[in-house]
Amino acid sequence: GFEQVSSVHDGLDYTVMLDAASGHAWCPPAITLDAVEALLAPHLLFPPAPTERSAMIGGAVAENASGARSFMHGPTRAWIEALEIVLPTGDTLHVARGDVLADGRTLRFASREGTPYEVQAPGYAMPATRKNAAGLYAADGMDLIDLFVGSEGILGVITAVLVRLTPRPTLFSDTAFFASEEEAIACADTLREAAANGLPLVSLEFYDPGALRFMADHPQVRPEHQAAIFTELDAGDPAIVERFAEIIIGCDPMDDWFADSDREREAQRDFRHALPENVNTFLRQHGTDKLCTDYAVPAGQFPTMMQAYHDACDAFLQVTGRPEASAVLFGHIGDYHLHIDFLPANAAEEDASMEQYAILAQHAIELGGTITAEHGVGKKTLPVGGRRIPYLEVMYGREGLLEIARAKVGLDPHRVLNRGNMMPASLLDEIR
Ligand SMILES: Cc1cc2nc3c(=O)[nH]c(=O)nc-3n(C[C@H](O)[C@H](O)[C@H](O)COP(=O)(O)OP(=O)(O)OC[C@H]3O[C@@H](n4cnc5c(N)ncnc54)[C@H](O)[C@@H]3O)c2cc1C
Repeated sequence: GFEQVSSVHDGLDYTVMLDAASGHAWCPPAITLDAVEALLAPHLLFPPAPTERSAMIGGAVAENASGARSFMHGPTRAWIEALEIVLPTGDTLHVARGDVLADGRTLRFASREGTPYEVQAPGYAMPATRKNAAGLYAADGMDLIDLFVGSEGILGVITAVLVRLTPRPTLFSDTAFFASEEEAIACADTLREAAANGLPLVSLEFYDPGALRFMADHPQVRPEHQAAIFTELDAGDPAIVERFAEIIIGCDPMDDWFADSDREREAQRDFRHALPENVNTFLRQHGTDKLCTDYAVPAGQFPTMMQAYHDACDAFLQVTGRPEASAVLFGHIGDYHLHIDFLPANAAEEDASMEQYAILAQHAIELGGTITAEHGVGKKTLPVGGRRIPYLEVMYGREGLLEIARAKVGLDPHRVLNRGNMMPASLLDEIR
């Protein structure tokens, strides 16, 4: 059964209700992912691991958060078993996975207070990507809980979350450095295939030459390195480590850095954190903002998207003329989800980076991908044909936005909660 577990983390009191035997925990919404980790029994893990560990669990559910380890575990969605929700009307819902399934896209349910609701999920087809944080979840026969996971706080306030836990893995990590990007990508393909055939790979990440240049101070990085692949492995069984080592050796990296101790793993984590830190230092020095893409595409389209990334980086380099610090390409190659950080040093370069960002968004959509795999939509807009349009409109069209708005109004008839998230507030007022 569930037992209360409390502790002080970063000076705050936190309590979760933990059922260690079945691997479930009821969490309050305002608990950081770091605190959840600290509170769980040492052998249990809540696997969704967005880069930002100070995210709250309510925010992680609202954003369907994900990160490097989503390669093995998928985004947050699959780990959420039940939610307590307060609707903007004041009604309360207990939504457990499996309790309410849609008839087509129509969800019928009642609040605790007995109010009946009928909500039509949007009619759009979601992209066939491994990760997606664009718009409300919508599928035939979908579970009501999935409407709320990733809803960016527009439908109701999550007041408690039942998460599913998994045994904590014994993690080894590895960074392999290559003489060319092609070799690194081929190695990622080999590792992805090995994972599909049972190799317990937790993360599979990529760094391009631009990214390595930003980490060049690190003792492991040599000027000849043109790309790197970072992996984490659930290495409970020595045979797995052996199999992994054979695959990496077969990839023929210039150098390989294998971390099998806590100290080495820490060192690899610091190495990876050096990239955002050095990027942010560059931007602070120039008083500019980074523009970070968050596109993911279906498996077969990745080579085409990779070409588009290179074209965009080249076009931006024409403007900056700064090969040492123009753009970095890195991230979740296992999920066909790389980020480009464009690094503008002045206002004209900021405009140029936005132009490339918009071109890449169109590519991602044309390839059947998503324009946000993990960052979410919020109040973003995109320049198209000389004007700014709502970010999601590029992907689902105006009709898609209206469908999201209708679903919202079905639960928030006074249109008060998180106005402007996912779609412009003005659109809400068009719904009868
Ligand atoms: C530059 C950038 C990088 C990001 N990188 C990542 C990443 O690597 N991985 C990733 O998964 N996400 C990423 N995100 C998205 C987001 O920041 C994270 O998903 C994070 O988990 C949000 O948690 P938070 O506690 O900071 O939420 P907040 O920022 O407080 O809230 C995020 C949204 O969730 C809603 N919300 C929060 N709590 C609740 C609640 N209890 N009930 C209902 N709605 C709620 C808020 O209204 C808001 O719309 C990124 C965002 C940006 C802008």
